[in-house]
Amino acid sequence: MILLQADENHLWLAPYGYAIVFLGFLFFLFRVFESGYASYYNRPLFRHYFVYRKLSKNQQKILEKESGFYKKLSRKHKKQFTHRVATFIKEKQFIGRDSFIITERNKVLVAATGCMLSFGRKNFEYGLMYHILIYPKEFYSKLNDAFHKGEFNPHGRALVLSWKDFEEGIDITNDNRNLGIHEFMHAMQLEAKQSNDVDSTRFQKQFQNILKLLSEQDLKDKLIETRFFRDYAFTNQYEFMAVLAEYFIESPTDFKGHFPKLYLHTQQLLNYEFLGY
Ligand SMILES: [Zn+2]
Repeated sequence: MILLQADENHLWLAPYGYAIVFLGFLFFLFRVFESGYASYYNRPLFRHYFVYRKLSKNQQKILEKESGFYKKLSRKHKKQFTHRVATFIKEKQFIGRDSFIITERNKVLVAATGCMLSFGRKNFEYGLMYHILIYPKEFYSKLNDAFHKGEFNPHGRALVLSWKDFEEGIDITNDNRNLGIHEFMHAMQLEAKQSNDVDSTRFQKQFQNILKLLSEQDLKDKLIETRFFRDYAFTNQYEFMAVLAEYFIESPTDFKGHFPKLYLHTQQLLNYEFLGY
């Protein structure tokens, strides 16, 4: 009878079963190798498996015209960057507040800022962030009962920006203030605390190196003597890292000159040099 033969009929599946187990094992080995490589060389083995997403014509035009970073990338990196910006725009929800109307330009510039900071990483998408809320200018925040220019709110999975201040951050490139970079760094650091992917592990490792440096008297003296970083950096560890990222992107040459070790660990953490961009 047909029903009795059912078991026998499934025997032909056995080789596929072994193949699946074998592939699973290979994948496991690859993951072990990948994290070993990242911890030894301080950078991910691969940043990309596939690069295929494109922007709309209008979005691409905005990126080419307004992103100084994009302009200086090689052809290969331009493709990767475009893929990342397009992915970011596709996956996040942009919402205008206080009558602010979201345009393609808003989307492209916010995505490009986030993807610039995460360009050296494999994981570039800011998983803790889903909503991008944009206000026309400073907004009232219930978090601490005050007006804010920007904040990252992990509970609401929201990046909140004042467009006026975000735009100033990218337009003025020599004042070490970049609101977008600042808030994206907060999101990246919180993600590193909660995840254990290769980039988060590298982040934590370099963050510990930076904390170790900050405990050295020499460096403390120099930070006070030069007053290179603005006072706000010393509010707490999170603000320090966010301000560090702003300086790393806006004045890498000075940063490297004054604090070479601190610069090196920041560079290893982000796996990118913004010198020349
Ligand atoms: Zn902050």
